[in-house]
Amino acid sequence: MVVASPRTGALSANVIDVEGRHVPVKIRHHPRARRYVLKIDPTRGEVCVTAPKRGSHTQALAFAQSHSQWIAERLAELPTTVAFCAGAEIPFQGQPHRVRHVDQKRGVIRVQPALESDGLPEILVPGDPNFLARRLTDWLRGQAKQELSLRVAHHASQLNVRPARITIRDQSSRWGSCSQTRTLSFSWRLILTPPNVLDYVAAHEVAHLVHMDHSKSFWKCLGLLYPNYRPAVKWLEEHGPALHRYG
Ligand SMILES: [Zn+2]
Repeated sequence: MVVASPRTGALSANVIDVEGRHVPVKIRHHPRARRYVLKIDPTRGEVCVTAPKRGSHTQALAFAQSHSQWIAERLAELPTTVAFCAGAEIPFQGQPHRVRHVDQKRGVIRVQPALESDGLPEILVPGDPNFLARRLTDWLRGQAKQELSLRVAHHASQLNVRPARITIRDQSSRWGSCSQTRTLSFSWRLILTPPNVLDYVAAHEVAHLVHMDHSKSFWKCLGLLYPNYRPAVKWLEEHGPALHRYG
C-alpha cells in the first residue's frame, strides 16, 4: 500500500502507463480519506486508488502514475492461476494435496493420505480426464456444503436460531453472507482453508441471524459463539485473496 499527499498532474483516461503497458485504475472517493491511497486488489489484479473527498480524478491518476514502478513490482508478484488438472497442487482443508487422475470409468472422488513421508496426500479423481476439472470443482463444492452445513448447524443450535437455507457460491468479494430472508451463502473456496477458518466464517454468518450488522453487539455475540476468531480473520486477510487463483 502506498499513501501520499495529493500531487498534481494530468492524464485523460482511467489508465496509466506501467512499463509500457496500459493499466486501468479504479478510483474511489472516500469521505474520510485524508490522502491518496494506492492498493492492488490481488484477486482481480486491479490497481485501486482511494481519493479524499476533495481530491480530484486527475490527481488520483497522477498519484498512481508516479508509483508505476511500485505497481509493476506488485503486479509481477501476483500469483499465477492454478488450473484443476492432473498433477496440480491444491490446498484442501488447509493442507496441500496433489490432484491425481485414476484410470477408472466410474467411482467417486476420494482423498488418499500421503503414501511416503515426503509425499503429499492425494485427491483421486476417476472418470473421463476431459471432465476432471468440472468433477473436482463439483466435489469441492459438495465438500464445502457438507462441512459448512455441519458447522452452521452447530453454531445455530448454540444461538437457538435457524437459517432458511445454505447456498454455496463462487463469490469473489465475500466469503459468506446472510440475506434478509435468512439464507446463508458461502464461497466454495472455504473448503481450501484450514478448518478453523471455515468454522469462523460459518459462526460469523450465523451471528448475523441475530444481528444483521457489524455492530458492537454483533461482535460480542460472535465472540461468545467463537471466542478465538482473530487468528481466522487474520488468516483470511493474509491468504484469502490467493485462494482465488485455484480452478
Ligand atoms: Zn459480516
